[in-house]
Amino acid sequence: MKIFDPHVHMTSRTTDDYEAMAAAGILAIVEPAFWLGQPRTFVGSFVDYFNSLLGWERFRASQFGIRHFCTIGLNPKEANNPKLAGEVIDLLPRFLAKDGVVAVGELGFDDQTDDEARWFTRDDVAKMIAGGFLHPETGVRMSLPMRSSIAFYLIETWLVGFAR
Ligand SMILES: [Zn+2]
Repeated sequence: MKIFDPHVHMTSRTTDDYEAMAAAGILAIVEPAFWLGQPRTFVGSFVDYFNSLLGWERFRASQFGIRHFCTIGLNPKEANNPKLAGEVIDLLPRFLAKDGVVAVGELGFDDQTDDEARWFTRDDVAKMIAGGFLHPETGVRMSLPMRSSIAFYLIETWLVGFAR
C-alpha cells in the first residue's frame, strides 16, 4: 500500500520512526511547522527551525525514500507576541517560495486572543475563496486547498456558519 501522511511532526520523532513509516508504505509526508514546546523569543529561532524543516528533515526523510513536504507559519502561541509575530510574518514570503513548502500553517488558536486572530482573518479567507488574494501585510499570494478536499469544505462551512 502506498500512503501519504498529510500531517506529521517528524522533528519530534526518531529516525527509527522514518524506517517504520517507510516499511509501512509511506511515500510522502507533510510536516506542518509547529510550536516547539517553549515560546520562541527571537525571529532567528524561526529562521533556524524553518531551515531545519527544509534541510535536515527533508534529508532525513530521503534516507528512507520518503518525500518530505512542509508548511511554514506563525504558530498561535507566538502570535501573542506582536513584535515577534510581525517579524515572522515578514519571513513568510522568503520561505513560502522554497521547494517543498506546500502551504501556510499550522494556524489556529491557542488562547483565543485577538492577537492570534489578527493574522489570517475570515475576510482574508473569503477573499482567497473569491479567487487569489495577496496578504495585506506580507504580499504573499494565499491559496486554499483544492475545492474537492475535506479541508476546503470545512473552511467554506466555517465561513458560511459565521455569516448566519
Ligand atoms: Zn500538528
